[in-house]
Amino acid sequence: MQTVIKLSPNQLAKLVTHYQPWQSGSSLPPGALLRAQYQGVTITAYKSGKVLFQGSGSQQVAQPWQPGDADQPAAGTHKKSTTSGSLPAGFASWSVLGSDEVGAGAYFGPLTTAAVFVAHQDLDWVRQLGIMDSKVLSDQQIQKIGPQIIARLPHHVVNLMPTKYNQLQQQYNVVALKALSHNFALKQVLAKVNPAEVQGILIDQFAAPTTFNRYLKQAGQTGISQPKEYFTTKGERHHLSVAAASILARLVELDSMKKLSEAAGTKLPIGAGKHVDEVAAQLIRRQVPLKDFAKLHFANTQKAEKLAQRQ
Ligand code: MG
Repeated sequence: MQTVIKLSPNQLAKLVTHYQPWQSGSSLPPGALLRAQYQGVTITAYKSGKVLFQGSGSQQVAQPWQPGDADQPAAGTHKKSTTSGSLPAGFASWSVLGSDEVGAGAYFGPLTTAAVFVAHQDLDWVRQLGIMDSKVLSDQQIQKIGPQIIARLPHHVVNLMPTKYNQLQQQYNVVALKALSHNFALKQVLAKVNPAEVQGILIDQFAAPTTFNRYLKQAGQTGISQPKEYFTTKGERHHLSVAAASILARLVELDSMKKLSEAAGTKLPIGAGKHVDEVAAQLIRRQVPLKDFAKLHFANTQKAEKLAQRQ
């Protein structure tokens, strides 16, 4: 099976750069710039702009480069990663339910976990949102993109605000809380879609799968057996559903921080550094109950109490 396309010099240069990590050692045929092995497909790019894709799946690999299509292939589809070995070939173009969480390392604010389903036919739409690397997006961008995800894609968010978080934290450690939140959010989304349409689940990894499942079991929860769950760090690079989940979690976190700041009468800072201790100390002095604003088990609590006593 083979697919041949013809690219502009500009696109050709992009393609060559893109597949450089998968360059094969064999010598190049006359007139060729690159030969690469990618997902079982041999890609040969010629100076003329002609690109040959050979092997089963050649059409799929060639598809994003077809003239008239998006400028770049899918986020993650072609990124090299040390963890992608555990994912099946072509996973980035599957219909996947992904999940991610934010706030675990921040003293103030909630632990927010989101799950989003991105069907194969929605991948192009998600790609044009430009969310490949959610970490670099500004709050303003999150506030612009997040609502679009909500409006279009099946999703669910578990937002553990501090009051609730502190209650649960008496019984469960943070990793267990994350596992329970991911599992719950994923199940909620599965209930909203046709499960047969979901080819796989991708969880942005925060614990070994065995640990994840052990915590569910200890809490009396059942995991998801179908479709198959995959775990990988940097999940957003491997499927856009995780990137979308990350955006959605950040949107809800931002909104929660705004509400909590209003209730506290001061802007609550992010993170868990010194500045956080000072603001927490202020709240203690003003007799604002920290349990409704912060994750009490953090060491920041003791530091803030000491600061508050000093006046
Ligand atoms: Mg994550």
